[in-house]
Amino acid sequence: MKAKVLNLIPNKKECLAAFLLATVLFFFLVSCAQIQLGAQAGCGFVQDQRGQRVAWRSADLPMKLRIHQSVPTEAYSAIQECVSKWNEGVGQEMVRVDNLTPYAGSKRNSKDNISTIYWWNEGWSYSQNTHQAKTTVHWTSYPRFTKANEADIHINAQHFDLALSKDNLDSGKVDFVSLCIHEMGHALGLTHNEKDSVSVMLPFLARGQLRQDLSPPDLGALHCGYGNDWVNYQPDGGTFDPITASVEDAGSATSSSRGAQ
Ligand SMILES: [Zn+2]
Repeated sequence: MKAKVLNLIPNKKECLAAFLLATVLFFFLVSCAQIQLGAQAGCGFVQDQRGQRVAWRSADLPMKLRIHQSVPTEAYSAIQECVSKWNEGVGQEMVRVDNLTPYAGSKRNSKDNISTIYWWNEGWSYSQNTHQAKTTVHWTSYPRFTKANEADIHINAQHFDLALSKDNLDSGKVDFVSLCIHEMGHALGLTHNEKDSVSVMLPFLARGQLRQDLSPPDLGALHCGYGNDWVNYQPDGGTFDPITASVEDAGSATSSSRGAQ
């Protein structure tokens, strides 16, 4: 009887085996949790490596957009105009502009978790000269959700004559509000819409063209991506270490300038 009781106490080998089994089981469960996440419906959004949409969490909305000191003050009202188009179209404040203290830091992507709009009159080096703008979205992929955490918009005023108001638009100029609305769509997570001729997310924007009205496909994409219940939208939480990645919008601007030529 005594011997039996003693046998119940595991020896070192058994302890090690149990530890290894528990470790294998833990990693198996973690990998299962990640596999289960799987791909989401695209909804016209950028998606991460797993097919999860890149969107802002409700706690981070409205997305705060900082203005870099390179942006001319004459462009401030045009920027606000394109922000208002999204906010009024969606029926909720999606973006808020902070132009009280223009940012004086580097114009290069700082990846500092603060979304910023930059203006390039010279020194444009992000992609080709034929790109009207470039928007970079940074996101973090967690095991149970993906969230956008920074969107930087770079405007190419060096190679394009931008009309800050449609009153100044002519066949040689790019309508800045139309361009800004498009880039703001990228900042909110949208990718290009190549099939709806009314979409502001079409990859082509010709010189002299006005495209300032959000269309049903644009708003439909946002509602699909963020859910209809804007106030309560909240993806699952997670506590694992993040993976970071970014996407660059180079193609759009290339396409845009092609459309103009
Ligand atoms: Zn684009």
